[in-house]
Amino acid sequence: MDTHAGLHSQAILTINAGSSSIKFSLFLVPQLNQIIAGQIDGIGGEARIKVKLASKNTDETIILPNGSRPQNHREALSFLIDWLHQFAKDVDVIAVGHRVVHGGQKYSAPTLITDAVMKDLDALMVLAPLHEPHNLAGIRATQESFGGIPQIACFDTAFHRTHKFVDDCYAIPRYFYEQGVCRYGFHGLSYEYITDRLIHLFPKDARKKVIIAHLGNGASMTALHHGDSVASTMGFSSLDGLPMGTRCGEIDPGVLLYMMQHEGMDATEIARVLYQESGLKGLSGGLSNDMRILENCDLPEAKEAIDYYVKEVKREIGALTALMAGLDVVVFTGGIGENSAVIRGRVLREMAWIGIDLDEARNLDGEVIISSDSSRVLCLKIHTDEERVIAKHTLELSDNRVVKNKVSNI
Ligand code: AMP
Repeated sequence: MDTHAGLHSQAILTINAGSSSIKFSLFLVPQLNQIIAGQIDGIGGEARIKVKLASKNTDETIILPNGSRPQNHREALSFLIDWLHQFAKDVDVIAVGHRVVHGGQKYSAPTLITDAVMKDLDALMVLAPLHEPHNLAGIRATQESFGGIPQIACFDTAFHRTHKFVDDCYAIPRYFYEQGVCRYGFHGLSYEYITDRLIHLFPKDARKKVIIAHLGNGASMTALHHGDSVASTMGFSSLDGLPMGTRCGEIDPGVLLYMMQHEGMDATEIARVLYQESGLKGLSGGLSNDMRILENCDLPEAKEAIDYYVKEVKREIGALTALMAGLDVVVFTGGIGENSAVIRGRVLREMAWIGIDLDEARNLDGEVIISSDSSRVLCLKIHTDEERVIAKHTLELSDNRVVKNKVSNI
């Protein structure tokens, strides 16, 4: 495979290690042209790497040869790194950027990873037990393989560290807050990318009262004023707020007490139900977590799952609007937000009362502006790119490090 990068091109590698898959990209520096985007999934079973090369316009799927079935993230990453060394041998990786789901209350910006930072991140594992261990495994694997090159952690929680106490606390005894039990909000890298795009595309509107709806397999919404996050639908964990592919979204904590006291379920079983068996999948009676399948299904359970989803999106738009005392812009992004004219259409049509006038043709055509010219609220559909945000920060921070090293060497 030829990356068409040119001999000894320098690149930033980004790693986004999720619970069952690892996304990766290579960006040439300094322009950050993305030359490879891929995903390794099926970890623990028949793993495969799907890759998209900028030089070709097709997706390729590479089934790993027999005997190289990575059983866990560490093995998958070392396989991926070997594969990259082989297939992108014309490229020198000069820094690695990692998506790290949780930065706790301490990390409000991307950070150069040192031993002290790794110690902090290990301690944060308890706040995101389903995600953080994979993120940290990714960091350790690339540290081993790439030696001393800069490794940068980009946190999903960092974007929301602008919240006031009342927007982050829960009404439980205060000492829990001191322990770090508070609302963090997630999907921050996606919100950062969309905010940058807004400033670039709609500079007059970007600093007004904005709601960004990141509707993917995971889903959340964020209210922004003056370009800063003021509230998020996600809270302490990535379970809160909107229903998701398999995650429950907002739920009465009394339901968890019921599961424990009457069903005899322990924390592991409850976590499995809330993270893996709920949301669209749970509500549709196990039909699917995929909105495409539910939209094309005539069964009442599929319809009810979509009805609940739309209701919750509308409810949260209303709540976030109330917190900002107004609404000027709504942006849809993520797999559902970008691709489902049905969901966008239903939400926006049913929220006409708030000053939204949907342009049906623009919505069906998937244009960037999907509201009419006379709509008081500007409604947009913008593609998100979390990997590019990671690459940008990694370049900036690793450049700084090079400059600092030069200064200290003088
Ligand atoms: P993401 O996590 O952002 O990659 O989003 C993945 C989800 O987007 C999938 O599970 C689908 O539910 C949804 N999706 C992707 N394409 C479409 C589409 N054309 N219509 C409706 N939903 C879609």
